[in-house]
Amino acid sequence: MHRHSHDIVEKKLAFSVGFNLIITVSEVIGGLISGSLALVSDALHNLSDTGALLTSYFARKISKKPRDRKYTYGYKRSELVASIINIVVLLSISFTIILEGVKKLVYPSEINTLVMLVIAYIGLFGNLFTAALLFAHRKENLNLKSAFLHIFSDMFSSIGIIVTGYIMKYYNLWILDPIITFVIAGYIIFESIHILKESIRIVMQGIPEGVDLDRVKKLLEEFDFVENVHHLHIWSLDGHTLYLETHVKVNGEEYDRYLGEMKGLLKKNGFFHSTIQLESKECNENCIADF
Ligand SMILES: [Zn+2]
Ligand SMILES: [Zn+2]
Ligand SMILES: [Zn+2]
Repeated sequence: MHRHSHDIVEKKLAFSVGFNLIITVSEVIGGLISGSLALVSDALHNLSDTGALLTSYFARKISKKPRDRKYTYGYKRSELVASIINIVVLLSISFTIILEGVKKLVYPSEINTLVMLVIAYIGLFGNLFTAALLFAHRKENLNLKSAFLHIFSDMFSSIGIIVTGYIMKYYNLWILDPIITFVIAGYIIFESIHILKESIRIVMQGIPEGVDLDRVKKLLEEFDFVENVHHLHIWSLDGHTLYLETHVKVNGEEYDRYLGEMKGLLKKNGFFHSTIQLESKECNENCIADF
C-alpha cells in the first residue's frame, strides 16, 4: 500500500518537472516575441525550480552509493555539490537579466501585451495545475510540503506579471516590465544566496545549525573521569548527519568504559559518528588545542 502511494508521488513529481519545462520554454519564446523581459525572468524562476528538483533527484540517487576506497565518507555530499553548481548558474543568469532590465529602464520599448498576457495565463494555470497535483500529498513529508508551498507562492509572480500586463496594455507604461523583472530576479538571488550560505557552511565544516559547541564540551566534562575536553570539532557531512572529533584527558585507566559511556551519551544527543582520542597526559607538545 505504502509503496504504491510512493510511486504515485514520484510519477506526479516527474510529470510536474516535464510540465514545468514546457512552460519555461513557452515563456522564453513568448518573452522574446512580446519583448517582455518579465516573462523571461519568470521562465528563469521556473527553470530554477525544475533544476533544483532534477539535481536533488539525481544527487539523491548518487548519494545512496555505498562508500568505497576512494570516497571513504561515501557520496552524501553530491547533493551539496549539485546545489552549488545549480546556484552559480542561476546567479549568473539572474545578473544577466538584471543587466538587460537596466537597458530597458533607460530605453523602454513597446511590448506586445496580448502575447505577454496569453503566456502569463498559461504560466499561472501551469502553476495552479502543479499545485493541485501535489495538494493531496502536501502533508506526507517535509519535502512535499515545501514543494507545495513553493509552487503556491510562485503563483503570485504569475499574478504580478498578469496585472503588469493589463496596466501596460491600458496605460502604455513600458517601464513597468523591467521593474517587475527586478523584483523577480531579486527574489531568485535572495533565495539562492540563502541556500548558498547553508551549503558553504557545510563545505567549510562549520558547526551545524542548532548545535552548541560549549554545551557539548560541558556535557562531556560532566563525567567524573573527564579532566578536560579539547580539540573539539563538530561538523556535518550533508546537513543531517553529525560528526564529532575530540581529545579527552581522563584520570583513570578504564579506557573502554570511558569510551562506551561518552559515546553512549553522544549518541543520545544525535552524534552517531564520533572519534575520541583518550589521553592520560596533556598533549600540548604535539597538538594545538585552542578549543
Ligand atoms: Zn519557484
Ligand atoms: Zn583539532
Ligand atoms: Zn590532546
